[in-house]
Amino acid sequence: MDHVNEHNITCYCEQEVKVTVPEIINLENSPEKADEIIQGEFLKLICPNCGKELKPEFEIVFHFAGSGPSLLFLPEIKREAFYKGQKEVPRDHNLVIGYPELREFLLMNRSSLDRFSIEAIKLHLLQKAPSESGIVIYFEKIENEKLIFEVIGLRKDEVGIVQVPLKTYHKLVQDKDQLVQEEPYNAMFRSPYISVKLVSFEEAS
Ligand SMILES: [Zn+2]
Repeated sequence: MDHVNEHNITCYCEQEVKVTVPEIINLENSPEKADEIIQGEFLKLICPNCGKELKPEFEIVFHFAGSGPSLLFLPEIKREAFYKGQKEVPRDHNLVIGYPELREFLLMNRSSLDRFSIEAIKLHLLQKAPSESGIVIYFEKIENEKLIFEVIGLRKDEVGIVQVPLKTYHKLVQDKDQLVQEEPYNAMFRSPYISVKLVSFEEAS
């Protein structure tokens, strides 16, 4: 039995809701947890008072089948602390911050995609976007030899779709060893975190 923590969270209506969260989830033994995360059902609660849907985030370690690295999931509210070096993270783990990144990681994992190369594609896409737009991009799936990305923030309350040929991805995988040392790609690393969110686009235009 994995160790669990009990948390009390407070709904917007001030109602306290108790939630039980495992410290570690082994996805080899509990593959249904990955499905829950991908479907957006993971840790979803309904407030017994006002009926509002709550999706709290908690620090959790995920183990995968085989000997690959574990994944540390940090809540979005810990992002700044991690950037400032105030949040210790094991270097031999992968790291995602916030639920959309967790979901994306599992989707990439299922398709055996390389994280750097996916983030590099996002970087190319964001270089074409206005720097102040606040757009975020997440990998969604592979379809008809294309990678499908969701683009959030392009238009209010709308999710856009961008398709990128798989051959673009394969080229990045091939050139990865060189690219990771070059600007702007080298800005995507804050070990063990790899994300285009670390790149500043201010000077690009
Ligand atoms: Zn409530």
